[in-house]
Amino acid sequence: MNLFSRVLTALSLVKRQRFKPSSLQFRLTAGMTAASSLGLGSIAVLISWTMQQLLVTTHIQRVQYIADRLPRDVELYGEMLPTETAVQRAINNSSSPSLMIWAKRPDGMMLAESPSLQLMPELFQSMLMEIADMPLQPKVYQVRNRYFVLYSDRLAVDNVSIGQFYIAQDITEEQAVLTTVVQRISIATVLIIMLLTLTTALYIRRSLRPLRKMSQLAETISVDELSQSRLYLDRAPDEVRELAQMLDAMLSRLSQSWEQQRQFVNNISHELRTPLSVVSGYLQSLLRRSASFTSSQQEALEIAASETDRTVRLLQDLLDLARMDSSSLYFHQELVVLNDLIAEIANMGAKFSNHTIEIEAEQPKISLRTDRDRLAQVLINLLDNAVKYSFPEDVIMVKLSQTEEQTVIQVIDRGCGIALQHQARIFERFYRVDEARARSTGGVGLGLAIVKSLVEGMKGQVTVWSKPNEGSVFTVTLPNL
Ligand code: ADP
Repeated sequence: MNLFSRVLTALSLVKRQRFKPSSLQFRLTAGMTAASSLGLGSIAVLISWTMQQLLVTTHIQRVQYIADRLPRDVELYGEMLPTETAVQRAINNSSSPSLMIWAKRPDGMMLAESPSLQLMPELFQSMLMEIADMPLQPKVYQVRNRYFVLYSDRLAVDNVSIGQFYIAQDITEEQAVLTTVVQRISIATVLIIMLLTLTTALYIRRSLRPLRKMSQLAETISVDELSQSRLYLDRAPDEVRELAQMLDAMLSRLSQSWEQQRQFVNNISHELRTPLSVVSGYLQSLLRRSASFTSSQQEALEIAASETDRTVRLLQDLLDLARMDSSSLYFHQELVVLNDLIAEIANMGAKFSNHTIEIEAEQPKISLRTDRDRLAQVLINLLDNAVKYSFPEDVIMVKLSQTEEQTVIQVIDRGCGIALQHQARIFERFYRVDEARARSTGGVGLGLAIVKSLVEGMKGQVTVWSKPNEGSVFTVTLPNL
């Protein structure tokens, strides 16, 4: 992979991860970028400024040298020639195409000027002279599109002032070179900062990978995986590795306490179920011989019997779930004709409720290798809910279909439905949408948890589609074994 495609991949990764300003990755990258921009920017500015100063100082020294020599030359020529001609000679002597010299009398009239100045356009000459007449500093002056270092001093011969002389060193070419160098430094600085930002972002992203791994584990880990989940971060920094070890230790403590809790529920359910079943049996036999009881005694007995039954059912459900959790539930595989099984359950259900249960199957005989009793338990729970949460006159539909790979059973009701925010949670243990209604229907919130565990035990899955006041569709998908 070349550098360009690497950069593109990195950028797409960054984009996919949606850079959040509050994330540690963003903050670290921004901080490092700001620090490197400040550092590199300052160095670039310092280099540019130093080079400019060097250029000015070098030329000022040269101009100073000429300025020192000029009055001496004038004095020398003055011994043989008239003052005006002597000044002109001295100026001609020192000037060059890039060095302009001129001298003015005390009244401001031009005394002499170098040929290089004469070659300049008049407007340019007057602008240059105007600037040179102002108090000068050791810096670069811009006159139109040219750059100059300017100098002026008193012109004296034998300590008698004969006017003022001016020197203008044209440094346009050097300035252009300097500007190009400064531009290149700026571009290089920007490129280096961009490259640094990118590499810093990638490095920080890589360094934070172990933390992301930890949060992914914490987000996706299920209760069943608590005991096996371990983080292997051999190449992570010490601090992160220590954190991972702590997390591992915490997971194993959680797993232990979860196991203890499961064991406790299992034991309690087991210990309570037997005596309560006996109590239920006594209550039922008492009820059968209730002719001699008063109506209030009979009512109390009925309530006691139904509550005991409900509690025995709850304990049975808890025991089933505990067995499923400890994977000690055995699935006895046999060939089951689903159409017959569902018809049987529907007939049984018709004895206890007024609902019509219709079966719609793609073929008259859809068969599947599965555990008949467990699948019956799944369907009974789903149909029981469909009956409980819809009106008596509503039709409940069971749809059956089969492909080469899987068999799909759908239990469809037109009942009260389930709001979207509850749909993801109804398969949790003891989760009930409406406590008051659930109590009146006798549910404790374990039916769907059992359905989910059983279906998953059969390597299938169960999903729900529902709309409030329109009804629900529970879909069980099982693989064809
Ligand atoms: P419960 O024993 O309370 O029925 P379940 O685990 O079977 O417990 O169901 C959990 C919750 O899901 C119920 O309290 C109920 O609110 C909702 N629910 C389940 N099936 C249906 C359905 N067919 N229609 C509407 N709500 C349902």
